[in-house]
Amino acid sequence: MTPPSAGPAAEVAEVAGALERARGAFPAWSGLDPSARSRHMLAVRSRLLERLDDVVETIVAETGKIATEVVVNEVLVTCELIGWYAKHAPGLLRPERVSPGLLRHKTAEKRYEPYGVIGVISPWNYPLVLSMGPVVTALFAGNTVVLKPSEITPKVGLLVGEIFAEAGSGSHPAIVQVVTGSGPVGEALVRSGVDKIVFTGSVRTGKAVMRAAADALTPVLLELGGKDPLIVCSDADIGRAARGAVWGAFTNCGQTCMATERVYVVESVYDDFVAQVVELTGRLNQGSGADADLGAVTHEGQLRVIEAHLADALERGAKVAAGGRRVDVGGRPSLEPTVLLDVDHTMAVMREETFGPILPVMRVRDEDEALALANDSPYGLNASVFGRDKAKLEKLVAGLASGNVCVNDVMVSYAIPGLPFGGVKSSGLGRSHGPEGLREMTQVKSVATDRSRLRREPQWLPLPSQLGRMARMAMRVLYHRRYT
Ligand code: NAD
Repeated sequence: MTPPSAGPAAEVAEVAGALERARGAFPAWSGLDPSARSRHMLAVRSRLLERLDDVVETIVAETGKIATEVVVNEVLVTCELIGWYAKHAPGLLRPERVSPGLLRHKTAEKRYEPYGVIGVISPWNYPLVLSMGPVVTALFAGNTVVLKPSEITPKVGLLVGEIFAEAGSGSHPAIVQVVTGSGPVGEALVRSGVDKIVFTGSVRTGKAVMRAAADALTPVLLELGGKDPLIVCSDADIGRAARGAVWGAFTNCGQTCMATERVYVVESVYDDFVAQVVELTGRLNQGSGADADLGAVTHEGQLRVIEAHLADALERGAKVAAGGRRVDVGGRPSLEPTVLLDVDHTMAVMREETFGPILPVMRVRDEDEALALANDSPYGLNASVFGRDKAKLEKLVAGLASGNVCVNDVMVSYAIPGLPFGGVKSSGLGRSHGPEGLREMTQVKSVATDRSRLRREPQWLPLPSQLGRMARMAMRVLYHRRYT
């Protein structure tokens, strides 16, 4: 493993060796029975918990987030995912018989086979769960992995590698290889000959990954950015909606792909909702201590984007109802949790991913206007709706162009391991979590087997002279109903 200080060229050069080691580990790992892999992955979970203090300390040091967020939003979610796949992966990977249709004298079967080596490229905002999630899913399916963590959180990535190397008394030490470095190392991994790339990050980098992957037709799974809307209906429980919006916008200091980034409130309940959101926001404790509710903006590049969105909104007429000032959080320049009013869709804060602690709230005439505005976005990762009337909620759920929808809740779908997670439109391609996430890490082999023992099939050469006429007659009988 190359230390992060080794320099870009050495880091790029390390990719080939990591891939070779992961390939070397593949035959033994993929050859295990899926239930033996499940047992090993439970040992990984135990090792993760044994190293919990290191994990929390390293993530807090590299990101500026608070310890409670690490435990609840990263470690707990990772442990749940491992438990779910340990239970369900063996069944989901079992070969499946399908009907042979007309060909009754055949058997037809789908087999789920691992790709080989999966390249995982992860971001900095949830450096544990967004590395461990794709890595464990790939492993459950029988692949081995090369992981490239974000250059902002390399130590978390190296710690993930250590946990896998140590798990089960080091019985499968090489199944996860870690390479550190920035964009060029990521690109080298995409071009290295890995069998699939699972990328989590921004839309811009996701497109670059897809372009680079196209040269070798390497398949990609892309989990990209979001601009998640929250709709508050006229009959919503306003107290719950306000609390949900505040958590959705400010947990992890707003640096969450499925953060609540814009709120549409029906005018009859707007004043009540805003008053509660502003009051709650004013009570939040931003800091690095044990009593903090939220931590820091992780790095200055992100803060520049956040402050540019704030300045643009204020220039175009938005008003700050809470927060709005730059603050120091444990030595990191950050922004206070900020509530913006009088916003509209001419503003970057309503259209582009802010990825910071800003909650813009917009008054709308009714739920139909809220839905139209929610869908007026290039993104479609997650959305939330708060209300009571079931028919109205169902209309919103059906109408939202979004990979995930939370009803009377925010972001929680990610924490349910059986639910697939992913985006529509620019928010990504493919799904992680659940059965769909496991199958993303497999290639389907379709196997058709003859069990007739006949000497030949009717359509084999030389063609029987009456085949064409008989086939026409047979089709008329078989599909008669469909013709009429
Ligand atoms: P980023 O796109 O800048 O970087 C992500 C990763 O890609 C990093 O490891 C980086 O080194 C690597 N990379 C950079 N250039 C590359 C290239 N040319 N080829 C290959 N890899 C390259 O994203 P970020 O700033 O680390 O993370 C924040 C973004 O991630 C936000 O847009 C956020 O919404 C998104 N995100 C999405 C999800 C999701 O599940 N949909 C989850 C978390 C974060």
